[in-house]
Amino acid sequence: MIDLSRRAFALGPSTAAFTAGTLSTVAGAANARSPAATANVATPLAQVRIGRFTVTALTDGYTDMPFSYFPGRTAQEIEAAAKVQFAARPSGIRFLFNQYLIEDGDHRILIDTGPAGSLGQSGQLPQALAALGLSRDQIDAVIVTHMHQDHIGGLVAGGQANFARAELYIDRRDVTHWTDPAKRAAAPDYLHNGFRLSADVVRLYPKLQAIDGEREIVRGVSIVDLTGHTPGHIGVRIADAGQSLLMVSDMLFPVVHPAATDINFLFEQDRAAAQAMRARFFPRAAEEGALIAATHMPFPGLGRIISDNGHLRWLAAAWAYQD
Ligand SMILES: [Zn+2]
Repeated sequence: MIDLSRRAFALGPSTAAFTAGTLSTVAGAANARSPAATANVATPLAQVRIGRFTVTALTDGYTDMPFSYFPGRTAQEIEAAAKVQFAARPSGIRFLFNQYLIEDGDHRILIDTGPAGSLGQSGQLPQALAALGLSRDQIDAVIVTHMHQDHIGGLVAGGQANFARAELYIDRRDVTHWTDPAKRAAAPDYLHNGFRLSADVVRLYPKLQAIDGEREIVRGVSIVDLTGHTPGHIGVRIADAGQSLLMVSDMLFPVVHPAATDINFLFEQDRAAAQAMRARFFPRAAEEGALIAATHMPFPGLGRIISDNGHLRWLAAAWAYQD
C-alpha cells in the first residue's frame, strides 16, 4: 500500500521544495532531447471497444518530470513515493504523452496531439497514426483537453496547421486564458511555450470551435467539464450500449494520484482549483468504477480509481482480450 497522505508525508519537511533557481535548471533538463533515442522504437498501440466505438490509445512519447515539479510535497518526499512504486528514474517520474483516437465508422476523432518533439522523447504521433494506416488528413476532428504545450504541440508544424482538415474543439475558457497578453506577461517562463503555441493554434485553425460547457460532439462522444488543471480543462466521455470510457487528461499524474488530492503539478496556475477538481472527481470515480483514460499514466493510460481499504489507488485496466 502506498500512502501519500499528509500524515505519511509529515515525516519529512513540508515546505515547498523548489526555488526559482532550481526550476529553470530542471526545466532545461526536462526539455533536453536526444534525437537518436526515438529511432527504431516500435510505436505502441492499444485498442478497447466501447459499444460501437473503437478507441485506440496512441502515444507521442514521454518525458521524465523532476521530483521537484510536484508542489505540495518536497522533492525528497516525491522521490520516496516514486521509489516505493518502482517509478523513480534518475531524472524523475516518467510521464507518457498518450492520445486517444475514437472511431465509430463515420467519424475519426483524435483527443490531444502531444508535445511533438518539444518535450522529452516525443514526436511519435504521426508514426503511430501511420501504423494504423492513417494520415493526418483522415482525422475529422481534434478535441484538445487544454492548451498546455504537451497537448497542443502536434497541432502545428513548421508554421502550418498539422490537421488542416479537422474540426478543432477547445473549451472557451482555455482559449481566452492562453491568448490573453496580460496573463502571458504575468506567467512564469516555463508556461510561455503554451502561450506562444496557443496563439499559433488560434491563428492557424479558423475552424476552431470554442466550447461553452458540456455538450455532445457526435452521438456518444461528449465534453465533460473538469476545470481545475487549467481554467478550461475538459474530459471526453465515450458512451454506447451501456459501456463508457472517460478520458480525463491531466486529472491524475503517475505516483502522486489518486492517493493524494493536495499534490499539484508545477504547471497548474490555480492550485486550489486543481485540488478541488481532484477532490470532487477521485471519490466519485471510485464509487462508479468508471473506466478512465489518462494522458500521462503509463501506456495506454487506461485504468480505474479504486478504494482499497479506504485508500484510493490506480488500477490499470485490461485492454486486450477484454471481452
Ligand atoms: Zn499534460
